[in-house]
Amino acid sequence: MDMKAAVLRERKGKLSVENISIDSPKKGEVLVKIAASGLCHTDWETMHGFQSQVLPAVLGHEGAGIVEEVGPDVERVKVGDHVVCSWNPNCGICFYCDSGQPILCEIQSGIKAKGVMFEGTPRMKSADGQSVFHYSLVSSHAEYTIIPEAGAVPVRKDFPLDRAALLGCAVMTGYGGAVYAGNVRPENSVIVIGCGAVGLSAIQGAKIAGASIIIGVDINPKKLEWAKNVGATHVVNSKEEDPIKFARNFTQGRGVDCAIESAGHNDSIRQTLESSRPGGRVVFLGKTPYGVEVKLPFYTLMGDREIIRTSYGSSRPRRDFPKLANLYMDGKLLLDEMISKKMSIDDINQGFDDLEKGKLARGLIIF
Ligand SMILES: [Zn+2]
Ligand SMILES: [Zn+2]
Repeated sequence: MDMKAAVLRERKGKLSVENISIDSPKKGEVLVKIAASGLCHTDWETMHGFQSQVLPAVLGHEGAGIVEEVGPDVERVKVGDHVVCSWNPNCGICFYCDSGQPILCEIQSGIKAKGVMFEGTPRMKSADGQSVFHYSLVSSHAEYTIIPEAGAVPVRKDFPLDRAALLGCAVMTGYGGAVYAGNVRPENSVIVIGCGAVGLSAIQGAKIAGASIIIGVDINPKKLEWAKNVGATHVVNSKEEDPIKFARNFTQGRGVDCAIESAGHNDSIRQTLESSRPGGRVVFLGKTPYGVEVKLPFYTLMGDREIIRTSYGSSRPRRDFPKLANLYMDGKLLLDEMISKKMSIDDINQGFDDLEKGKLARGLIIF
């Protein structure tokens, strides 16, 4: 079958929108007709060479759509199901899956590095017959994708698919960063440094968990406005005011119970550590580009803090996506407020330029 897809051919920051072909799903695989796909900063990093990826490849790892066809031995999903794609389709039987850390699944990470499906080959070809590789086992910047059954998570059908797409990366990572990794409790104080889509979702997780003080920090006034809209009780522009002092002022000088970093800079990493209280929890969700070293005075790591770095918010997507869908439908999780722009796949490069300039909380490709 032919389809339109955004293909990364060179790490020069631009995608090529092309007609390519996609096969039928093989054993344990699912063909999904993508309804919406979010533009994530990790795609941008891959486009600019900060993440490794076999090329050419179809990027996108935050998608939702409808199951069009299932391969042999698929048991959990059926044609017509509405699914959110998880980029953590863990195998369930390796050392890490057995140890309760499926995000670290050994089988999955080996496959992702090769840009292929579990069976060992890709399912897409460009017009000249060349293989086109998969990205994060999702590849949602395309009209269709083939994903492992384990990565196709059914959600209720009254949950709009464009908003469903956001669950696939940013919302799950941020929400889980606060609720699971950060273990935010009622009446806790929380700071979130970096108010892009992941930070906004962490603010929402903290709010839903019952935090009474939620401080959103950024250097972009627009992002601080978004932070207020989704539940920050206070916002700080760290270009103008010291977030560490601000956090301590609210907490009798101790620092917050839970500090969450979602910006990926040396400064914000240090501010996150220093604004947490001794014995508190520190969650790193952001990442610096590969090869960039972070410098910290050792005292910032002291004080019996629990410090964790997590990529998917310590979540279990198959358990959590349906729960997040319910939170949205109950009016508790705000997703409409996080969508800054909807666009056609033809405008995807403009969308990534806007993301780079900090104009988007989330931009969505709508098919
Ligand atoms: Zn595994
Ligand atoms: Zn992402």
